Amino acid sequence: MIYLDNNATTRVADEVAEAMLPFYREHYGNPHSVHAMGRKSNEAIMQARRQTAALIGARPDEIYFTSCGTESNAIVLRGVERNGRRKIVSSSVEHASVMALVSELARNGSIELAVVRVDENGAIDLDQMSEQIDDRTALVTVMLAQNETGVIHQVERIIGLAREKGALVHLDAVQAAGKIPIDVRSLDVDFLSLSGHKFHAPKGIGALFVRAGSKLQSLWLGGGQEKGLRSGTEAVPSIVAMGVAAAIAADRLPEQDHVREQRDRLEISLQKAFPEIVINGQGQPRLPNTANISFPDLLSEFIVYGLDDAGICISAGSACSSGKEGGSAVIKAMHRPDRLASGAVRFSLSRYTTAEEIDRAIDLVPDLINGLYRSMGLRPVTGATR
Ligand code: PLP
Repeated sequence: MIYLDNNATTRVADEVAEAMLPFYREHYGNPHSVHAMGRKSNEAIMQARRQTAALIGARPDEIYFTSCGTESNAIVLRGVERNGRRKIVSSSVEHASVMALVSELARNGSIELAVVRVDENGAIDLDQMSEQIDDRTALVTVMLAQNETGVIHQVERIIGLAREKGALVHLDAVQAAGKIPIDVRSLDVDFLSLSGHKFHAPKGIGALFVRAGSKLQSLWLGGGQEKGLRSGTEAVPSIVAMGVAAAIAADRLPEQDHVREQRDRLEISLQKAFPEIVINGQGQPRLPNTANISFPDLLSEFIVYGLDDAGICISAGSACSSGKEGGSAVIKAMHRPDRLASGAVRFSLSRYTTAEEIDRAIDLVPDLINGLYRSMGLRPVTGATR
């Protein structure tokens, strides 16, 4: 297997799995119990809070653990104090956990929604952003890095525009964390979402940065855990995992240079073999691990299955949109014609991806793609692969 679907999810790091286990088998106390077992769990959460905060330059008391990135996003979008303002401004390439929710809030009349377009490189249109952020805007919510293309948005500019109008800002940093440096202080952001399974912690653990002093209403009431923002007994082993994964991600950030080299090698070789492919987002700053490639006239699902037969795991758009017809909505939002949107696939690497795996992918993928072109009666395109 060559696993190139790390934006969908990552393998749990060995150190992370090892750090979790004692909190299932030995230190399983409820962190709110006053006895020694409870205190042990509570201390472990405090440590994880410090580690997670350090990954993004936050204070530990500004980190709230949640069950996933989707929940972190929902807490902000549903719970933000709007101070009489009704408008939420977002972009046309947001993850479903943001777009489905703000669309629903707009449909039921709770908010007014403005969706700002992107250009063909996936960059958010800053002129339209500036027009849309106005005195009625309560919140601007955008991704720091796009999950399908890896495009890194110009969030400093967007945050500046929001500040001029007194609007709050939420960044969905689920794909960015662990791949590029993040500093909430220099960004001057109010809320920022993280998800552990994108940086080698297990699935089912997320975190939300809430700038000290910002107010959010909780989604549900209960025992008042996480300072009342997220009631429910804390998932201590998963929280420990998130902390350890965050600490390792921060330490090993320089390894992303190697990840970028491997990604670039793969892109260059595919471009040589298929000069007409489009690397989506290539004209913008991008995450080092992501290659989103449109193979004209092919169907992304066929490519995914074709590569899967050869033991290569990739995806067509985001994992959540797999199986949905008509090509990637994100690539369509980038004004790409249908023949490019429907043939777009994502290769996403991690620090565990080896140069040998990329060599094998470089050997295998061109023949597989040519086979798909042939099976569709389209002219096979040939060229040097390395
Ligand atoms: N936001 C982005 C940008 C994502 O890529 C994802 C997951 O793919 C999410 C949010 C949702 O995260 P989770 O799977 O932890 O709910």
